[in-house]
Amino acid sequence: MDVILESCASYEEAERQLPQHLKRYEGLFWKNEKVWVKPNMLSARSPEEGVTTHPTIVRGVLRFLLDLGVKPVVSDSPGVGNVRKVAVACGISQVCQELAVPLIEMEEFVEKDGDVFKQLRLGDLIDRVDAVVNLPKLKTHGQMVLTMGVKNTFGCVLGLNKPAYHLRAKDYHLFADLLVDVHQLVKPVLTVMDGIDGMEGNGPSNGQKKRLGLLASCKNAYALDHAVAMRLHVSPDKVYTLARAKARGLIPEYKIHGNWRNSVKMPDTVGLTEIVKMPLWLQELTHHWARVPVFNTPKCIQCKICERHCPANAITVDKQHIDYKKCIRCYVCHELCPEDALMLKRRLWKAGGR
Ligand code: SF4
Ligand code: SF4
Repeated sequence: MDVILESCASYEEAERQLPQHLKRYEGLFWKNEKVWVKPNMLSARSPEEGVTTHPTIVRGVLRFLLDLGVKPVVSDSPGVGNVRKVAVACGISQVCQELAVPLIEMEEFVEKDGDVFKQLRLGDLIDRVDAVVNLPKLKTHGQMVLTMGVKNTFGCVLGLNKPAYHLRAKDYHLFADLLVDVHQLVKPVLTVMDGIDGMEGNGPSNGQKKRLGLLASCKNAYALDHAVAMRLHVSPDKVYTLARAKARGLIPEYKIHGNWRNSVKMPDTVGLTEIVKMPLWLQELTHHWARVPVFNTPKCIQCKICERHCPANAITVDKQHIDYKKCIRCYVCHELCPEDALMLKRRLWKAGGR
């Protein structure tokens, strides 16, 4: 399996590099094939914020597919807001209009069984396309450590179902298994990663943007994610999706093409003293020092996005209160807060939510 890790200094350069970069994948597609192009459209953030897949990457991939006679559509199920509003904010809607590519809002779901989790609710678009092209953004992630190709396909799950899945898989390893299940069901034929501007620290939306200078791709997202983690000097065993993929025998042998290397500051939630590696039953036995969300009240605009999306119903915005007996430390609140008004602080915590 070939993994391409190409250095790319800017999005202007990416525009020039993409046609040559993608040429090697021409044989994967055929004329009139319907392809779902799946960027990271986490929330309504501008391209400059480094949260969502940059429109330049989306444009380059769509042009490549259109030139092959493929019929692409673009869709995602954002964590907050509907896909049309999010696509306008992150510049992807404008690209779709420019190239006359449909932007699809998914409302219906289809249930599919994964190897570990049954009846996973994916957007019904999955049954209306011939193939998926996955366009992740390279970022740190408070819960999963890094978000890359495998994590990006979780956006194929309809938004309203996502909090329920966090509750269904409270243990981080189990949640990673769920992500791997979803990825196995979506099975993208190609993953093209936007790692030009990535994110470090407390990602995936409230960390610090960092110019990582990477344009990467592979037919296999497990191989791609593994190679990127290695070249970021992050042990793949620390990245939950990669640890579970390895345990399930899903990471193929691969060869890296390209000399790109870089580093990222890890999220505060990933530290030597963190207890996330403990199995959930052990976490439930006693209290531990752990990073939990804490309101930064002066920054909070009381939008209640965190309260609405908290899978454990642990948040009461009016009282600026989080019930740590219920909190499962999924960090969804931190991820979705548009104002970075939730800090991740160490508190004495015991696994709850039951
Ligand atoms: S903490 Fe963030 S998401 Fe929650 S109500 Fe305040 S601003 Fe909104
Ligand atoms: S309070 Fe935040 S971290 Fe805790 S369960 Fe709710 S969304 Fe997850």
